[in-house]
Amino acid sequence: MIEHDVQTGRGAGTGWLLVLVASGLLALAVSVGITAVVQQRAAHDATQQSAAAQRMLIAMLDQETGVRGYGLNGRREFLEPFTTGKADFASALADARAGIQGDDYAQSSLAEQAEIARRWRALAQAALPALQRRGDVFAEPSPARERKAVMDQFRASNAQYQRLIDERREDRERRLAWLSAFIVLAMAVFFAGVGALILRRQRRDRRRARAVERVYVSRQHDLGVGLQVARSDEEAHEVLRRHLELSVPGSDAVVLVRNNSANRLQPGTDLPPESPLEARLAEAEPRDCLAVRLASRRHHGDDVADSVLECAVCGRLGAQADCSPLVVGGEVIGSVLVTHPETLTGREDRAVEESVGQAAPVLANLRNLALAESRAATDGLTGLPNRRAFDEALKRMAAQAGRSATPLAAIALDLDHFKSVNDTYGHDQGDEVLAAVGALLRDVIRASDFAARTGGEEFVVLAPDTGAEGGVALAETIRAAVRELSLPGLPPLTVSVGVAALPDDATTPSGLLRAADRLLYVAKDHGRDRVESTTPAAGTRRREDRPAASPAE
Ligand code: GH3
Ligand code: MG
Ligand code: MG
Repeated sequence: MIEHDVQTGRGAGTGWLLVLVASGLLALAVSVGITAVVQQRAAHDATQQSAAAQRMLIAMLDQETGVRGYGLNGRREFLEPFTTGKADFASALADARAGIQGDDYAQSSLAEQAEIARRWRALAQAALPALQRRGDVFAEPSPARERKAVMDQFRASNAQYQRLIDERREDRERRLAWLSAFIVLAMAVFFAGVGALILRRQRRDRRRARAVERVYVSRQHDLGVGLQVARSDEEAHEVLRRHLELSVPGSDAVVLVRNNSANRLQPGTDLPPESPLEARLAEAEPRDCLAVRLASRRHHGDDVADSVLECAVCGRLGAQADCSPLVVGGEVIGSVLVTHPETLTGREDRAVEESVGQAAPVLANLRNLALAESRAATDGLTGLPNRRAFDEALKRMAAQAGRSATPLAAIALDLDHFKSVNDTYGHDQGDEVLAAVGALLRDVIRASDFAARTGGEEFVVLAPDTGAEGGVALAETIRAAVRELSLPGLPPLTVSVGVAALPDDATTPSGLLRAADRLLYVAKDHGRDRVESTTPAAGTRRREDRPAASPAE
């Protein structure tokens, strides 16, 4: 399900290397082919030029043969090689000239041969009438010798020309060999350079991928440590939120907690400012979140519904949203919503999946722990904190009062003649009375006050930032409310109350409780259904009647 994209860069780099090797081989083949064609062409040209030079020589020799045959026999048909040789020479010369265009030196050599041939022909042409008359080629030795000398000149010039052509050909072949060597070398350098660049890039990509992976692993490790040391589920929610927002840059993460007893889906972390989630979660039930209902991860697009199933909590949030259920042992204990502006990368996707999976059991443990702790600190009958929780709250609130130099009032209450309620109406009715008084106390006190059931039918209220006078006022309110508590089939109840305050009546938490208890018993002594304190403004006791300070104080 998770796309693990450990970007080592290996795949892409290997592909590039293959392309490089293939194109290198192709370029090599093409350049070798071109060189071979050029070489073949050069060899062909040189052969043609050499053949043209040969043809020129043969044409001259043919002409010489014609003249000699004619001179020996005096018959006209023996002159034919002379005639055809002349035409052959002209054609061979034209071919030779065409083959060496642009080569001035070779052209001048050809021009020299043409000139010698012309001279020889002039001599031969001049000798023909005499040969015809005498029919003896040797009859005129001196013109024949002159012609031979010219012919020798031609041979020498033609041989020199042929050597020139050979030299030219060798020179060209040498240059071509150098050129192909250069091309191969240049290509080798080029491809080696590109290959080295690709390998370097590959190594750099791998190094980067390893560094990114290290950061990822270390961040996941930090999440594990953060969850391990979290002392409460709130703290763990916060650790998970911060981790996800770090893992997905630009995102907002919210942990949604399933509250089964209230059938609500509640935010476990602060919502982003002006988030539409605030209104949606006000009345949200767990089943409203698709990830919770289906126990599977959901992704929602920007504004447009991208599925027939639309989530009432996470859908259409104006950003892309990824909602993962927190599943432990098959039970969905909540979900984690990550809204993000960009589509998640493979690594971000993996971070969300793994982090939520890692956090779920820890969150479940912390929630169960909190539940167990809350049960251990709560009185089952009234739902109020019990004596243990009260002792801790007293210490904490007294310390806070000392730090802020504010008073703290303790109001100790005891139901009057409660034993007779039990005796007359039964223990169950007595329990109902206790539960009703617990609910009454919860209703009457402020959010910052603390009410606990400290004993059988005894309660204590702690009111921070409240002196004895304020405490007496609250105590009177409670006393009046108890009197008005009408329970079906039961007579009106009354309560006796003792009020003491830090720092006037005591200086320690235990001293404060003892002082309130003593005043409670004074109220009992003075006829019950009354409030006693050391302040003259309330109750029946005056300051001079204040109980003696305890030895502990
Ligand atoms: P007083 O006015 O002097 O306080 O008289 P009281 O009868 O209220 O005081 P007493 O200490 O004699 O009796 C307290 C009674 O509270 C005795 C006990 O049976 C009853 N009680 C204590 N815990 C519970 C409880 O959880 N449920 C019920 N039903 N009764 C309880
Ligand atoms: Mg009592
Ligand atoms: Mg009592």
